[in-house]
Amino acid sequence: MSAETAGTKVTLTFDNGPTPGVTDAVLDVLAERGVPATFFVVGTQLRKPGGRELVRRARSEGHRIGHHTNTHSLQLGAAADPEAAVQSEIADLAAELEEFDDAEKLFRPYAAGGVLDQRVFSRAALRYLEAHAYTCVLWNSLPRDWEDPLGWVAAALGDVDRQPWSVVVLHDAPTGAMAQLPRFLDELADRRVEMAADYPASCLPIRAGHAVGPLSHLTRETAP
Ligand SMILES: [Zn+2]
Repeated sequence: MSAETAGTKVTLTFDNGPTPGVTDAVLDVLAERGVPATFFVVGTQLRKPGGRELVRRARSEGHRIGHHTNTHSLQLGAAADPEAAVQSEIADLAAELEEFDDAEKLFRPYAAGGVLDQRVFSRAALRYLEAHAYTCVLWNSLPRDWEDPLGWVAAALGDVDRQPWSVVVLHDAPTGAMAQLPRFLDELADRRVEMAADYPASCLPIRAGHAVGPLSHLTRETAP
């Protein structure tokens, strides 16, 4: 046991799926170890054959399901028509995700490679998220598994070792990176890390529709 990491927490999040052949394997690994996670679902993936069944399986196995935009290609704060983007990227998929809603509806914005800047939200998007009582889940560990399918484990462990509670963004996408998930979980188990299902307040800029602090660094202020 490492004294440095005693009391450390990790919350696992899997973005951009579901992906048949990948999400299934991730769910198997999590089930074997009793580890909770949140799956942030993309609409175009949900509608692929087998997609919805995978999200149902994740939900039935105790994982949380969140909204991760319809097409994962349009930043809300960079849209030419912010209102139209809210409808097409958030509202349309929200209706399709209703069966997975729990007491706290979760949203994670598309951030184009993980860059948290003023393209993340528009004022129109914030109005929608407030009106529909979403909780927005950001992150503090982005080990870039899609770029480095082997090396992400070391990057993530570096984050885990330097902060008390890491919200790690991984991707149940066909990059090969999830083959390393068992090794990552072995390392976390060796460190006696607590695997959490919730999130630190510092990663939740909006809770149940209420902005917790200023969002100007994440929002295009000129948007109507
Ligand atoms: Zn994403």
